[in-house]
Amino acid sequence: MTNNEDCVDVGAGNCDDALARLYEYLDNEMDDATAEGIRSHLDGCGGCHDRFDVERRLKVVVKQRLEEDVPQQFIAKLRHALEEEAARH
Ligand SMILES: [Zn+2]
Repeated sequence: MTNNEDCVDVGAGNCDDALARLYEYLDNEMDDATAEGIRSHLDGCGGCHDRFDVERRLKVVVKQRLEEDVPQQFIAKLRHALEEEAARH
């Protein structure tokens, strides 16, 4: 099932699978075999490739912004909040 007409089942998965794991992939939070499957899907699927590309760029911008403009105090608070959130799961 796909809601993007450019998207077809290619590589080791379909678009729903690929997009569901977008953030895991970008954060390198998956094993090599899974990442390779996503990569081969992106190679054959322009729609997903564009989606991943946009998200990847967004992440880079956010990261740069955080490092440049956000006060250290806020980053410490944010990190603390994330750790608390993670500990709850
Ligand atoms: Zn796709």
